[in-house]
Amino acid sequence: MRLLVATRNKDKLKELRALLADLDFDVISSADVPGLHEIDEDQSTIRDNAIKKAIETAKFAKMLTLADDTGLEVDSLNGEPGVRSARYAGDEVTYHENNKKLLANLAGVPADKRSARFRCVVAIADESGLVDTVEGICNGSILIEERGGNGFGYDPLFIPDGQVKTFAELSSDVKNRISHRAKALQKAWAVLVRYKRGKGVGSA
Ligand code: IMP
Repeated sequence: MRLLVATRNKDKLKELRALLADLDFDVISSADVPGLHEIDEDQSTIRDNAIKKAIETAKFAKMLTLADDTGLEVDSLNGEPGVRSARYAGDEVTYHENNKKLLANLAGVPADKRSARFRCVVAIADESGLVDTVEGICNGSILIEERGGNGFGYDPLFIPDGQVKTFAELSSDVKNRISHRAKALQKAWAVLVRYKRGKGVGSA
């Protein structure tokens, strides 16, 4: 059975493929769907962006679709960058530029006030627009400089609670056991299994 992952972000797709591997779907991504338009992530919450991406993509492709929207919420910045995580430093910016802006906004904030969390909402929609959502959270804190070359996005700045290394210093195996995305996918498991059994979203 095919599952369309609604993303053009290769880093995110790589993680999602690894997290979905045991479910034995034939996973494709937005890049494999000819004519699929860019979906504006213009909603005011992470959850609504995930739902919009999943429904619009599923309806266009006429296929079961999974969308992930993720934000980094920093407590001392009142939850920013949050829903604006991808474009924190502006449109079309690099991960490093977003990280630099985050560090600048946290300049002078002491270690014990740098708590943060990744919030990942996964939405699964079928071609009729029926949708189910799950959420995974990973708590941690923001370092004072980038460290590590693995992962992507804000990973070089984020130390998950219980670890001494950033996500970018940890192996992908470890990140995929403890991350926000891993937790969301664990919850999505039951929904996806229902589809494999032909029972669909929301059914028991
Ligand atoms: P979106 O979910 O594609 O909108 O991503 C939001 C922003 O958060 C992007 O800048 C991503 O690079 C970043 N991001 C998403 N997931 C992760 C992650 O697992 N680690 C670090 N940054 C992430």
